[in-house]
Amino acid sequence: MIDNPLNEIPSKFIFDLNYLVDSSHHIDTKKFILVDDNTYIHCLPLLLDMIPGLRHATVIKIKSGEEHKNINTCVQIWEELEKHHAERSSILFNLGGGVICDMGGFVASTYKRGMGFIHLPTTLTAMADASIGGKTGIDLNNIKNEIGLFAFPKGIYVYHDFLKTLSERQLLSGFAEMLKHGLIADKEYWDKLTTKDNPEEQDLELLIDESIRIKQTIVDDDPWDTGKRNILNFGHTIGHAIESYSLKHDEDPLLHGEAVAIGMVIESYLSHEMKKLSTHDLHLITAEILSHFKPYPIDKENISEIMKLMSHDKKSKHNLLKFVLLNKIGEAEWNATCDEKLILNAFEYYINLQQQSV
Ligand code: NAD
Repeated sequence: MIDNPLNEIPSKFIFDLNYLVDSSHHIDTKKFILVDDNTYIHCLPLLLDMIPGLRHATVIKIKSGEEHKNINTCVQIWEELEKHHAERSSILFNLGGGVICDMGGFVASTYKRGMGFIHLPTTLTAMADASIGGKTGIDLNNIKNEIGLFAFPKGIYVYHDFLKTLSERQLLSGFAEMLKHGLIADKEYWDKLTTKDNPEEQDLELLIDESIRIKQTIVDDDPWDTGKRNILNFGHTIGHAIESYSLKHDEDPLLHGEAVAIGMVIESYLSHEMKKLSTHDLHLITAEILSHFKPYPIDKENISEIMKLMSHDKKSKHNLLKFVLLNKIGEAEWNATCDEKLILNAFEYYINLQQQSV
């Protein structure tokens, strides 16, 4: 029997998760819930209301934010698991955004050589992107996702109502990854996301479902990221370096999606210069992204530091940086190399946009 506080027909999330937690297979399993400061306040009470079988779970709370996605926090989580006698058969429920999903997946899959984990994503980024595809990991000295492994969760359960407490800025950050899905794989989806007709009529839940479908299809084709899956890194070669730069220098660092949005503009320019993307598409992408994300102050002095950070990119081989480039909106190719001068020109393009918008 489902204890539904709202006395309504239970949503698929409530039904499926209660079914899992109360199944004979899992009823006696030790359960842990990983939360951060914010999901502890905003999401945990809701979850425990809906899923009584999790009320006895041990809650592990960490500090929120990308700056805590590191080995020190992992040690804290491993020690908590150890203290509460977690076993390999135990399950860790990752209740949070991309940081909790990436780090929780990493911690679980390395604890006692691998305990099970389940993602309960609570941000738009995590629902539409980070919880899908089995990439887990942490940052090393501000270098993004430098340590990690592929590990697939036992399940991913999406409850859209968690988004009600998410800030506008965080929602937009997730929206950037959704735009990326349209740009690399589905022009029709991009058109839906960017239509200016009655945007309030766009159903966010359906859009999230489409993003999940696009990402899952790409991952299914190439789960270990040896080929086509690389296209999901569009905007990330430059975006990750800018995100690392911002984490190091800014008091209020860029969010992941904000950095990827900048990366997508610069890498669209590269796509155009490599004679693939049309001028029309370049302008369309630039205008769309700038309508949501105000320009980040990059200047000629900090480009060399950002370029150095780019050399840590996991796609680079023999010191050659690899990029995902767009042939057109909805179609991408991976493994392109661009010479340094062209990359500098692309930064220049972005810097000029900043100046135009002042
Ligand atoms: P996040 O996990 O830091 O969450 C953003 C902020 O929102 C945090 O302060 C969090 O505490 C708060 N929050 C979460 N849910 C909330 C809610 N429902 N209400 C109110 N506040 C809430 O960041 P994110 O943007 O979700 O994810 C970014 C991370 O995801 C980055 O580390 C990025 O590298 C990673 N990522 C991973 C993949 C992947 O495939 N593994 C894909 C994309 C992004």
